Amino acid sequence: MTYEINETHDPNLKSWVESANDPNTDFPIQNLPFCMPWPATDLPHLGIGIGDYIFDLNQAIVAGLLGSGFDPLAEEIELCDLSFLTEVYGTAILTDLRRSAFEVLREDAEPEIIEDAKDCMVLMSKADPELAFEIGDYTDFYCSIYHATNVGSMFRPDNPLLPNYKYVPIGYHGRASSIVISGTDIKRPKGQNRTDQEAPPVFIPCKNLDYEMEVGFFVGRGNELGTSIPIGEAEKHIFGLCLVNDWSARDIQAWEYQPLGPFLAKNFATTISPFVVTMEALAPFRTKAFEREPGDPAPLDYLADVNNEKFGGIDINLEVFIQTEKMRAENIEPFMLSRSNMKDLYWTIGQMLTHHASGGCNLQTGDLIATGTISGKEKSERGSMLELSWRGTEPIQLPSGETRRFLEDGDEIIMKGYCEREGFRRIGFGECRGRILPAD
Ligand code: CA
Repeated sequence: MTYEINETHDPNLKSWVESANDPNTDFPIQNLPFCMPWPATDLPHLGIGIGDYIFDLNQAIVAGLLGSGFDPLAEEIELCDLSFLTEVYGTAILTDLRRSAFEVLREDAEPEIIEDAKDCMVLMSKADPELAFEIGDYTDFYCSIYHATNVGSMFRPDNPLLPNYKYVPIGYHGRASSIVISGTDIKRPKGQNRTDQEAPPVFIPCKNLDYEMEVGFFVGRGNELGTSIPIGEAEKHIFGLCLVNDWSARDIQAWEYQPLGPFLAKNFATTISPFVVTMEALAPFRTKAFEREPGDPAPLDYLADVNNEKFGGIDINLEVFIQTEKMRAENIEPFMLSRSNMKDLYWTIGQMLTHHASGGCNLQTGDLIATGTISGKEKSERGSMLELSWRGTEPIQLPSGETRRFLEDGDEIIMKGYCEREGFRRIGFGECRGRILPAD
């Protein structure tokens, strides 16, 4: 199972890449996430994050560093992303690639191997990341009960949580074409606004632009149309996780969402972090599924599983920072807006996946499925500005003397995620950033 601890999780392991041994790095040898760096002069390559570097798998395969098992790949490596590899060879090849990279990058690798591997290192700060999977479909859930309760109570104070919430993992189909990689600027969308209830709607730049702190998971192996995925098998279909910022236009959303849910308010851009942290690397940070309140219904049978209940949660600390134009000009560090944790989700990723396929919908390699905004119980754990500023009624005070109800042009949102547990090495996700540009 994906929860099992093995020798790659040994906290004492070190790498000959010095920066990977820094206790604060997101990318020690125990992590080794996949990515797709694009060195300026070349085509995108497959890579693995290690310390401040990316280990270039294309070069390593061509150089024969990963063992003869990967020789057949050398021919077609130039244009293959994770989707291609998984579709042709299955997810096992990614697990094998990562394991082989692990052997090359460990401190006690053969000196000749280390010497050759040094030629395959790209400085992370010099690499321009691409999407590692070709994302065919994107779905966004609504799995934080705290987020759903907060948002619900703004609109329905007496009845914040709708009666379906504790039975159905709520979600909507998003737009894959507008998923962008961290660092891409986000243009403020225009749309229909009907803030003035007495007048007809107007088509103007979004006034209440927001972010949502989420985590996404990539489907490794899909399912055939008309079949489903039993909950006990769900995690075998999940390859790894990344951070997701589901940019949201609240004013557009408020006018358009009835009766079919979000549409243009959500589809102008979604930012993801470039590294795919594997389920294997996350094994030490698994935790029990959300503990339901006494009196809450148990999940229906197709969403219930003993292992899911014991290990279905993932303990990932999530942080959101803002840096405004003025803060940048005055060299003020990004300011932390919230800190929440993925383990507080009401539904597990296994339940999301199983529910998604339960009616026969075919999931495919590279599909991205996001959790929905991850908020916690406390005020400091609210994963969107809508919640932090309580729909704009309680402006957020920034260290620059500015206030925010929603995002303004020039604001940059920076999301981070990391896992820590006694007896294991800290691992992280890197960053998910995006800066707001003015509307046309
Ligand atoms: Ca969302």
